Amino acid sequence: MRKLLPLIVAVLLCGALSAQTKQNKTRNLKSSNPAWVKNIPTKDVITWRRHIHQNPELSFEEEKTSKYVEDVLKSYPNIEVIRPAKTSVVGILKGAKPGKTVAFRADMDALPMQEETGLPFSSKADNVMHSCGHDAHTAMLLGTAATLSKMQNQLKGTVYFIFQHAEEQPPGGALDIINAGVLKDVDAFFGMHVLPNFPAGHVGILPVGAASTAQDVFDLHIIGKGSHGSMPHLGIDPVVVGAAIVTALQSVVSRNVEPGELTVVTIGKFQSGDAFNVIADRAELAASIRTTSDATRKLVEKRIKDIIDNITEAYGATYELNYIPTYPAIQNDKALNAQARNSAVTILGKEQVFDAPMMTASEDFAYYRKIAPVNFMTLGIGDGAANHNPKFTVDENALQNGVKAQVQIILDYLNK
Ligand code: MN
Repeated sequence: MRKLLPLIVAVLLCGALSAQTKQNKTRNLKSSNPAWVKNIPTKDVITWRRHIHQNPELSFEEEKTSKYVEDVLKSYPNIEVIRPAKTSVVGILKGAKPGKTVAFRADMDALPMQEETGLPFSSKADNVMHSCGHDAHTAMLLGTAATLSKMQNQLKGTVYFIFQHAEEQPPGGALDIINAGVLKDVDAFFGMHVLPNFPAGHVGILPVGAASTAQDVFDLHIIGKGSHGSMPHLGIDPVVVGAAIVTALQSVVSRNVEPGELTVVTIGKFQSGDAFNVIADRAELAASIRTTSDATRKLVEKRIKDIIDNITEAYGATYELNYIPTYPAIQNDKALNAQARNSAVTILGKEQVFDAPMMTASEDFAYYRKIAPVNFMTLGIGDGAANHNPKFTVDENALQNGVKAQVQIILDYLNK
């Protein structure tokens, strides 16, 4: 952290300066109130959100949620509904005029935890809770679809509303929808995530380039040879081998990765042995790795594998390694990022748009860039507990602004 501090300060300063320039440029741009704003079903958005909140479902099990979403979409005109995976839903709105194809994505799954918000519409399911705001994401995108469905005759191009299953559980739902082949024609993907401790209804523009981190994990079993504690020469001590590996792994970030590129290698688990006078025969380690570029991600994986392979060999031990890549980093496209900012400023006013810091969490929205450029943004939901906390809540006043920004972003993308 200490060596990164001057860099972070510099980055923050640059961000503040460029935000200043942008603010000057947009000083005269007041938020507008186009006719379509009155078509936003604001009350329904809150009703949908509460229904989904009260009936949460875990990743890959979103059966009732996806049926509910499908039914709401079908209650609006002009939207074709497809089911690319068992619990995902995609609504397709073809405009009256030809043009580009743009997708907006919401996720629908909840987490395995007990809700402690005390809300009157708290989860009815034991140990399942919408504690990451995916209920709000789904409700907002339904509101966006509802609003745009009434503008079909003036719409230029096609809109895909992606209601994705299983964001929280790698390998994630995004790949299922991509692999189903239904998104081949999409030219750009947008996504929005609610974020506490930013003013409710303010849109946060994430950085260009890495907007989240990639996460990989590994499980390592070091196989040594058990022995009496007084006879180490007859055994191969997996604790000593593991300690050497843990120490050597610290050099990956400090000596191999370019300084300033956010990278984390954390050994979160190191277990071995049961007794003071016994040399164990195995040690178990587990780690989580965060990176922000594909090149560094590959480099870190190679260095970790080389270190484990060579150190175990040097000590005469063997090993079993399960290296599991989860989600890549979201790479925000520069042009889409600028457009999202302009659209949000157009509809909400510059005072309700802010520069959001990079998310250190990982998101399977990142996979959509296999098809086309992506842009991910955040939506402030007021002060409160962090995402994935049992007391996580959403200030519902934020939802209307979320829908407004989504509609404006889609219209601007298709009209530019
Ligand atoms: Mn989430």
